[in-house]
Amino acid sequence: MLRYERNIRLEGFGENGQQKLMNSTAVVIGAGGLGSPAIYYLAASGVGTIKIVDGDKLEVSNLNRQILHNTDFLGKDKTVSANNTIKKFNPDCKVITKNIRINALNISEIIADTDVVLDCTDNFKSRFIIADACWENNKFLCYASAQGYNGQLLVQSPSPTNPCYRCLIPEIPPQGAIPHPATTGVLGSVVGTMGSMQATEAIKYLLGMTTSLDREMLAYDGLRTNFTKIKREKNKNCKLCGI
Ligand SMILES: [Zn+2]
Repeated sequence: MLRYERNIRLEGFGENGQQKLMNSTAVVIGAGGLGSPAIYYLAASGVGTIKIVDGDKLEVSNLNRQILHNTDFLGKDKTVSANNTIKKFNPDCKVITKNIRINALNISEIIADTDVVLDCTDNFKSRFIIADACWENNKFLCYASAQGYNGQLLVQSPSPTNPCYRCLIPEIPPQGAIPHPATTGVLGSVVGTMGSMQATEAIKYLLGMTTSLDREMLAYDGLRTNFTKIKREKNKNCKLCGI
């Protein structure tokens, strides 16, 4: 309890909240720039079980932002590195690793038996697979992305009146329509900000707190130091959630 003393003191948290977190399971898909702080802060807050899904090996170019890993693990599986880091950081936290890439066939099993899903991937194909599966399986999803000095954050909370991810972006954008961080670059601290906010939204959800991000998207402009909230409407003709 000493470890979590500063959590327990928080209004709306208390020992009950701490117990809720300790009994919870979060799945983080992607142990990269977003996943690094998200996994760290979920573990720090005392989330009981963290499932980490990533099929990649650690490359040196990852280390400007992927602070969960260190130089000793170059060339090794990111799941192995993540497990090593979190075991030392908070031994209370049970880590389950899945060294696989997600696809439309395995996603339902990956998110089953979890209370909250964090999409920390970096490509549209994965985002649509995750968002569709979370909506269909009634899972709370927190999504973020970052490139350059900018980031976006939203949650998808399945309810008949809430918009889904496809209400905002109906289909996967054509290849090259939206630049990828691999070409534009990305500042580690900006992607870290977004991943930290994913953890906050996930923790709030696990504690039973509300968010406005189920109907809004937060945009962060790191260069101008601006946070903007953009209203998201439910699309009645949406292929996934429309009626
Ligand atoms: Zn929709």
